Amino acid sequence: MKYADVAIPVPLQDTYTYSIPESMEGLVKVGCLVNVSFGKKMTHVGIVVRVHDSEPQGFEIKPIMEVVCEGAVAVESQMDFWKWISLYYMTPLGEVFNAAVPAKIRHEQGTARRRRKVDLAQEPTLPDLQMMDAGKLSDAQMRAYDGIVDAFADRDICLLHGVTSSGKTEIYTHLIKKFMAEGKQVLYLLPEIALTTQITDRLSLIFGDCMGVYHSMFTDVQRSNVYKRQLSDNPYRLILGVRSSVFLPFRNLGLVIVDEEHETSYKQQDPAPRYHARSAAVMLARMFGAKTLLGTATPSIETFHLAATGRYGYVRLSERFGGVNLPDIEVVDTARLRFQHRMKGAFSPTLLEAVEGALERGEQVILFHNRRGYSHLLECRTCGWVPRCAHCDVSLTYHKGKGGAGNVQMPRLTCHYCGRTYTLPVECPACEGHEFVSKGNGTERVEDQIAKLFPQARVLRMDTDTAHTRSAYEQIISDFSDRRYDILVGTQMVTKGLDFGGVTVVGILDADTMLNQPDFRSFERTFHMLTQVSGRAGRKDGRGRVILQTRSADSEIISQVVNGDYEAMYRQQLDERRMFHYPPFNRIIYVYLKHTDPVRLEQLSAEMGRQLTGAFGTERVLGPDRPPVSRIHSMYIRKFIVKVEPNLSTALVRQQLNAIRDCLLSAPTTSGLTVYFDVDPQ
Ligand code: ADP
Ligand code: ZN
Ligand code: ZN
Repeated sequence: MKYADVAIPVPLQDTYTYSIPESMEGLVKVGCLVNVSFGKKMTHVGIVVRVHDSEPQGFEIKPIMEVVCEGAVAVESQMDFWKWISLYYMTPLGEVFNAAVPAKIRHEQGTARRRRKVDLAQEPTLPDLQMMDAGKLSDAQMRAYDGIVDAFADRDICLLHGVTSSGKTEIYTHLIKKFMAEGKQVLYLLPEIALTTQITDRLSLIFGDCMGVYHSMFTDVQRSNVYKRQLSDNPYRLILGVRSSVFLPFRNLGLVIVDEEHETSYKQQDPAPRYHARSAAVMLARMFGAKTLLGTATPSIETFHLAATGRYGYVRLSERFGGVNLPDIEVVDTARLRFQHRMKGAFSPTLLEAVEGALERGEQVILFHNRRGYSHLLECRTCGWVPRCAHCDVSLTYHKGKGGAGNVQMPRLTCHYCGRTYTLPVECPACEGHEFVSKGNGTERVEDQIAKLFPQARVLRMDTDTAHTRSAYEQIISDFSDRRYDILVGTQMVTKGLDFGGVTVVGILDADTMLNQPDFRSFERTFHMLTQVSGRAGRKDGRGRVILQTRSADSEIISQVVNGDYEAMYRQQLDERRMFHYPPFNRIIYVYLKHTDPVRLEQLSAEMGRQLTGAFGTERVLGPDRPPVSRIHSMYIRKFIVKVEPNLSTALVRQQLNAIRDCLLSAPTTSGLTVYFDVDPQ
């Protein structure tokens, strides 16, 4: 009798063993999809990971029900990579499979059987190269390019630390051509939000049909087409894609580029696998003996540390392309101005004067405010009561909405965690008062205010409310870059690798929100964010102006941003990380517990705490903590932080954590409890 280990998307175990009925022998192979039953009633499509003849003992073996498709849907190297993701990020292999393979392929029955089989052991014949010329590199770009090629001679990973607008894309393009000419495939990763038609159009002019684009906002059909093409004997040579493209089949990978490597959105939060695409890309490249290039104007502390200690190659590019100057950053102390009653709504006199000047000269302005909605909350004027979400532990955000033709958005309250909306309260449930005031600024209010102050200006807003679809997002970008608008108000969406020639003034309305977050990365993140948004100013000609409004004008992080002193930020953060045992010195794993009953959760967290400290010692375990938002979707949440020294075997730590979880979940009293891990959280 033959048996197959099958990965199916259910929690706990990596694979489950099924017997192979005689009629299917020879059909069930590694990488092919099968239908299996699970539990009493459920069936799942899973992927065959291993075929063997050792009969499992101790439980009833069910037969495979059906072979969904004969050809493999994954190449072997790809499955090895999935296994690494599964192990490292403590996620069952079946859930990785689920995230990796587009739904259409996983559920494609019948038709899939007729699919032409490809011999995956064979090297694919890559299509002929037909490439247009890329632009000519400037001298500084050429030196950076040579530096990267040199670094790759004795290192597998290199950091390109190039200021905003230095033309990193151009350097990537030349490297891609070099690797393609050597017959290799290239993976070019971008954060979700930065993968726009601006960049795909530019690259498809050069790489034409050799390039495939893989985006999570594409339809499942589009994504499965790219996936199948990579599996065929005529795969794309270049994949330009978001984090999930690390899961695609590659046969001959030579180079992986991770652009904007500092971006925290490379880390997947929910659902599992909670992987970091940067680490995953490095591992993927290593499996192929390929090179990895990490590019950014503001390296993550972790990456810079590896470069500074010689483990990564390091190339610096400190000149903007075309001799464009870096912007001047002026700090405005809003605490003082507010005290003197000199602020006009969200705006300081300096910012208003700068906006006015830009408008007079026919130039464009970006106003950055990292909070959407109209105000962050609504408050009862009499007693201070604040409406909160019934399912999450947060106050609701007030959205004023817009009336007018075709726009049905009414004023409403929204929960930014679960997305539920509520109608405005008519009466305060606490004091029966009828008057409510809105507190704090959101992008909607900023848009309102600036439109009133400059009635002649054309104002556009970009946040997840206005750019809720891909096409709406692209429309805003093209409208603004075609200068159909003068002022763009937006959240961090406006900071992501956009290149607008007409922008000479950037206003940062409130630099403090991010700074005050209770997180060991908040300073680093603030530095990245402020530097990146400043970089949108004065990209083409002349010197741009950045007006940075803050209540913490004396904070060191602000002067580090103003001076463009990355190293100072790095040294200071590194000292703190060392002192408090955070990455890159220690590895961090979050342990989450969720339950609908807060009392049960309290008891179970206490038990988890005992087990964790028992295994790792009190000094390595923090918690249980209530996260800042401690209830989402009616589930109460508790979190532990486990800090692991680098000399501890990570395999052993994972083993212990899994054992503790399994032990806790196996008790009859724990029904309804969810436990999961977040490895290397962002
Ligand atoms: P970065 O990614 O480093 O911020 P970009 O790649 O967006 O910078 O380049 C900034 C601008 O300079 C873009 O408009 C780009 O087209 C232009 N540019 C950069 N390098 C070149 C080059 N070698 N030839 C022509 N234009 C270039
Ligand atoms: Zn909610
Ligand atoms: Zn009240």
